[in-house]
Amino acid sequence: MTDDLRSDLANWLGYLKEIGVEELTVREPPPPLVEDPPSSHAAEPSRAAARATASHSEDAPGEEKPALSKVEGAGDLFRIGGGEDDPDRDPAVRLDEIRSELGECTRCRLHEGRTKIVFGVGDPRARLMFIGEGPGADEDAQGEPFVGRAGQTLNKMILSIGLEREKVYIANVVKCRPPDNRDPKPDEIATCSPFLVKQIESIRPRVIVTLGSPATKTLLNTKTGITKLRGTWQSYRGIPVMPTFHPAYLLRAYTQENRRRVWDDLKAARARMDREP
Ligand code: SF4
Repeated sequence: MTDDLRSDLANWLGYLKEIGVEELTVREPPPPLVEDPPSSHAAEPSRAAARATASHSEDAPGEEKPALSKVEGAGDLFRIGGGEDDPDRDPAVRLDEIRSELGECTRCRLHEGRTKIVFGVGDPRARLMFIGEGPGADEDAQGEPFVGRAGQTLNKMILSIGLEREKVYIANVVKCRPPDNRDPKPDEIATCSPFLVKQIESIRPRVIVTLGSPATKTLLNTKTGITKLRGTWQSYRGIPVMPTFHPAYLLRAYTQENRRRVWDDLKAARARMDREP
């Protein structure tokens, strides 16, 4: 066993112990996360520590955000233009093109305070995709999503369902860090999220897990908060969506009950992913 594998295993067992799992049963190993692409893919896809200590709450009373349908310009949110998302195209190439199209973006005010654009990371053919709301301080500095304390928690969550960070795809609704780790504003979401839509269209994951309230509300175009939606199957353009708590919230509300809920959500996502063709 390599040191990396030993470390991953220790993390995984540690997370299970934290959420109260005392006993494991041995079963057949799960199928590989990434299979040969089916025909539809044929030739073709912490919040940081500061975020964890910020005042953000998963749907605290009075924190409902306006639905995107009420945002000026949001009508274009789910439009993919120009036939550019040919399903036969290589998703890695398509993601590179989307990143190029984004460029050194100044389309919304969030560019003013950013250090690096945080586009997304992972396997362009991932069967499971995680979507958060926006970068925190560590992500802004490194240009990669979920690399701070919340990112470490997300990594443990991914390991806990037998997957690896490199085999999923992780992205945010907005690609630049909101100041003071606030939630992204509706107009910022409306401006930036078409790039997320294009990422989803390129990767074509079998299952999406939304992390926290802003990401869930954006993707599902709903006002309903995460406390009501988590653990329930939703759908985005035919892709099953499992909303769950943001890892940063989990760090703040570090109860065994919350960790268990998230693990249940992730287990459901993994099982659904395995069932999807
Ligand atoms: Fe551009 Fe998105 Fe950054 Fe706004 S958040 S400047 S739209 S990349």
